[in-house]
Amino acid sequence: MESFIRADQYNFIKEQTTTLLSTHTSTNDQAVTQALKSITREKVIDLFSDLSDDQKEIIEQVQEVKDETDAIFFLSRLKQHVFAFHPLNEETIKGLFPKVKKLQVPSLESIEWSTLSYLGWNDTGANQKYIAAYKNGDLIGIRGDFKPSRQSGICAICKEHEEVGMFTTSLKKSTSANSISRGNYICKDSNRCNENLKSLHSLDNFIELMTE
Ligand SMILES: [Zn+2]
Repeated sequence: MESFIRADQYNFIKEQTTTLLSTHTSTNDQAVTQALKSITREKVIDLFSDLSDDQKEIIEQVQEVKDETDAIFFLSRLKQHVFAFHPLNEETIKGLFPKVKKLQVPSLESIEWSTLSYLGWNDTGANQKYIAAYKNGDLIGIRGDFKPSRQSGICAICKEHEEVGMFTTSLKKSTSANSISRGNYICKDSNRCNENLKSLHSLDNFIELMTE
């Protein structure tokens, strides 16, 4: 079977599994667990628009999770069907940022591509953050200034309360001589951000805001 689960969908299912598991451990009320089982099943099935019967069977197993062992087994089975963010090589990454002379490329061997919805890294010395992501199917690079905040806050991409910073890009509109600045608070640690990401909606919005 081909991979059919995106990293953000996997994260969402994982969160739902954890919620179901904690209900099992905190209550003996059959009605409550039954109800949550069907809600959980519905929520995870709803993530997908065209599941085959085999795929549906895998996803539906979520409702059978009753203890930690079930959860580990279920999630590791799911993981086999997660498709990786297409691994990038140094050349491709450099090609995304043609104007940057000395681009600091992250160490690519240590990246777990299957956990990524986007690739983000910091050039701390230069106070820059780089993002490689897909916009309408095309791989694009976004470079911005990154100023870490003193306090934690809500990230515009993953919507979680994290260590964040202000990411600012400047856009040059062809119709105007001036450039426009766009900024938003996002996670300092982009790997963590990816782990938090349970939908591509806010990532897509962010990318649109920063590039248009
Ligand atoms: Zn984040």
